[in-house]
Formats: sequence, C-alpha cells, structure tokens
Amino acid sequence: MGPMMLVTGGAGYIGSHVALALREAGFRTLVLDDFSEGHRDALLGGAAVAGSLLDPAFLQAVFAEHEITAVLHFGGRCYVGESVTDPGRYYHHNVVGTKNLLDAMRAAGVRALVFSSTCATYGEPATMPIVETMPQVPVNPYGHTKLVCEFLLRDYARAYGLCAVALRYFNAAGADPAGRLGEDHRPETHLIPLVLAAAAGRPVALRVFGDDYPTPDGTCIRDYVHVTDLASAHVLALQSLLAGRTGFSAFNLGNAQGSSVREVIAAAVAATGRPVPHTIAPRRAGDPPVLVGSPDKIRRELGWLPQHSDLATIVSTAWRWHQAHPEGYAR
Ligand code: UDP
Repeated sequence: MGPMMLVTGGAGYIGSHVALALREAGFRTLVLDDFSEGHRDALLGGAAVAGSLLDPAFLQAVFAEHEITAVLHFGGRCYVGESVTDPGRYYHHNVVGTKNLLDAMRAAGVRALVFSSTCATYGEPATMPIVETMPQVPVNPYGHTKLVCEFLLRDYARAYGLCAVALRYFNAAGADPAGRLGEDHRPETHLIPLVLAAAAGRPVALRVFGDDYPTPDGTCIRDYVHVTDLASAHVLALQSLLAGRTGFSAFNLGNAQGSSVREVIAAAVAATGRPVPHTIAPRRAGDPPVLVGSPDKIRRELGWLPQHSDLATIVSTAWRWHQAHPEGYAR
C-alpha cells in the first residue's frame, strides 16, 4: 500500500481529478471535504471524511486518526465575482482555512504540501507569457486571498520547515478523458461548460463578455489547461517533495498559448457538430484582455508534459462528460 495523501477539497473539480491521478500513481488518498460545493459521486468510491477546514479540532482528529504523509490542498472558494461582493467569506475560507490546515500539519509533524494557487495572484501583468518571477499584484479579493496563502506557505517554510509547492493554474478546463469525472459548478460561471450547455440546447443565454478588447478577434484570450494535465503536475510536485524538495517553490501551469472566447466557441461547434447560440455582451468587470502563462519552469524542473491541453481535446472531453451527465453529478 502506498503512502496516504490528504486531499482537501477532493470532491471538487480539480481536487477530484488529482485524487484519481494520485491513486493511479500508486498513492492512497483520503479526501477531506465539507461537501458544500463538492460531489460525493466525484469520490469514485475513494475514502473521505466530511468536515471543515474552519474546524481546528476536526483537523487535529483527522491527522491523529490517519497516517498522512503529505497534503494536497484544494479546499476553498474560487469565484472571482463572489469574492468582490463577499470578501469576508473568501478571507475566512481561504486564508483562515489554510492557516488552520498548516497548523494542524505542523502539530502532527506533516511537512509536505502541494497548494492550489492561481494566475489571479499576478493580476494584470503588462507582458505575456507570465513567468513566476513577475510581480504578484492581484486585482480582486480572490487573488488577494490566494496570495496571502502563498505568503503563509513561504513564512511557514522558513520558520517551521514546511516543504511546499504552489501551483498557479491558468484556466482549468476539460474532463477526465475516460469519462469518470467532470466539471459541475453551481451556479456555472465558466466559459467552456456554458458554451457546451448552449450547444446542448439548454437555456443558458450564453454571453460573450466583450468583443472590443485589443486582441485579434476582439474577445478575451485565456490559457486553457486540461484538468488531467493539471493533475499530472500535482503528482510530479508531490513526488519532488517526497524526494526531498524543501522550502517554498511556485510553478505556473499554463501552455504559453491562449485561445480567444470566439476560438472556444468555434472549437465547441467543431467538437459537437451543433450551433452555439450566443450574444455579445459588455465586458465583465475585472477581466484582463490576455492571460497566458509560461510552463518553462515546471517543464525544466519537474519534467511536466501536458498531453491533453489542445483546445479540441479539452472541449471534446468536456462534451463527452456533459452528454453523459447533462444535469451534472447527482445530488
Ligand atoms: N466568458 C464569457 N462568457 C461567459 C463566461 C466567460 O465571455 O459566460 C469569458 C471571460 O470574459 C473570460 C473567459 O471567457 O475572458 C474565461 O472566463 P472563465 O469565467 O471561464 O474563467 P476566468 O478567466 O474568469 O478564470
């Protein structure tokens, strides 16, 4: 039996794909999730404990009852718009939740952590692609809370010997190529699931947020990364920690290549063979025109090789899951 990995937020979109990849790599997993957003069906029968990162006694009990070797931390809130209207909730769940987790790890003598960070910690850099050494100047409370978490990791690494890797995701997208897992946010705000819902004929009223950006076709450009490629990066980061990596390090998970909203819609038309009805709407507040991340550092240091992150594969795997689960996971 392999060593036990604690996966917080492991019933969510990215966490569930990572938990699956860990098991496929020979690790055991224990998912910790409060199931406020996560789905029990996304556990695929894996072990789980229900509880909150906001409950230190619960965390202490989890570490006491299970022999945890390392932690992969996804639990938290992830909606930029909600973070603007309710920042208190974001600081509470993301910052306090992460601090509680780190303190429980420290008390239990567990040192290795892979942390779910985001390109939102960079804000709106003037040059692309983004590299890890660029200044981190978030432009919304979601990005602020994730950056504060990175500071926590750095400071705990320096003072208490935490060994931590932060992975800064660009746009996570797609679904398990074998069709076992997919994306189910409620409400859904992300572009690709909404585009596919429109292709499926669901009444989503897809809006393109702005066609007057300074980009070739006027719509926003994002760097979409397949969730299974994100998952393989977590396995590599974990293996590097287990092999002795110390201190704090951060890596971008991007493809150095962007796709516009119009290109995503065209890819969905091609993958589904169906029209994608949409209207042009005003820009969404806080959307930078272009966000593209360089993967050079993680390729060089950890040998990350994305295998599913071309737009056609992203859209077709997401479409397969959408067709099999038109209402998402069972509740
Ligand atoms: N977008 C859009 N219509 C939607 C949702 C998103 O035009 O209904 C655009 C959005 O402006 C951004 C891109 O699609 O440029 C990706 O947005 P998403 O919310 O999926 O991810 P984000 O980049 O905000 O993390």
